[in-house]
Amino acid sequence: MAKIGQRLPQNVPGDFYVDSTCIDCDACRQIAPETFREYGDLSIVYQQPASKEQQQRALMALVACPTASIGATETHDFRPGIDAFPSLVNEDVYFCGFTSESSFGAWSYLIVRPEAKGGNVLIDSPRFATQLVKRIAAMGGVRKMFLTHRDDVADHARFAEEFGCERLMHIDDGAKRLGIDHVIQGEDVFQWDDDLCVIPTPGHTRGHVVLLYKNRFLFTGDHLAWSPTRESLTAFRSVAWYSWPEQTRSMERLLDYRFEWVLPGHGRIHHDSPENMRAHLKRCIAWMKQV
Ligand code: SF4
Repeated sequence: MAKIGQRLPQNVPGDFYVDSTCIDCDACRQIAPETFREYGDLSIVYQQPASKEQQQRALMALVACPTASIGATETHDFRPGIDAFPSLVNEDVYFCGFTSESSFGAWSYLIVRPEAKGGNVLIDSPRFATQLVKRIAAMGGVRKMFLTHRDDVADHARFAEEFGCERLMHIDDGAKRLGIDHVIQGEDVFQWDDDLCVIPTPGHTRGHVVLLYKNRFLFTGDHLAWSPTRESLTAFRSVAWYSWPEQTRSMERLLDYRFEWVLPGHGRIHHDSPENMRAHLKRCIAWMKQV
């Protein structure tokens, strides 16, 4: 929980606040935009929750925050914030909340599939929080864990130990060193299950991979995200640790696929028709070639 002595003076007066330990991961602003907003390199509370629903979203942000930088001066039952995760995105895809500081608050997702279809899939690792682990267990546990790249692995080993799941990661992002059981290499596309397609996308890191589920949901790690300011898909030039030209080439490969959802580790989620998504992707590629 945040410390009142470190409360940022830019917060509006009242119950909820952000303290100076905020790492500007953006999670709270996505989860509860009616309460939190950006202020320089931090988040602040610009408006106290005014309804029960807004309070619920603020509590979810408090739970999801990787650094426990969100506090409240009044006494709350935190259960509604905790029990909201995993939180439904669409169909059988959930956002796990409980982000981890070691992955800079990256978002992780859970696909809930029947055992007969191969069971549940965890995409990147959330914080290993007891409450979340229990909720995931009640939803059928984890059969497979997909790790997009080296930055967002967080507590992968603890989840693997808890659920006995198979983990998949690319060799060029240190999969062997991390003790991953299913190590892939090269740039060949790999069909992990009927509805799970693994697409290598080197650029942000050398071994970055994305996962396409049902030709609808694209889990993009740090490769691709939505930019609300540009109102288009985007990539992050300043953190292309391996190669921006390679990342641009990897982006072009995605034109071969249809998808409706972009579900990133960092940056904003976006949903659109496959046609519009393709148009946004083309715009993103053109922009990447200019910067
Ligand atoms: S979720 Fe926490 S660390 Fe992330 S921007 Fe909000 S207050 Fe800061």
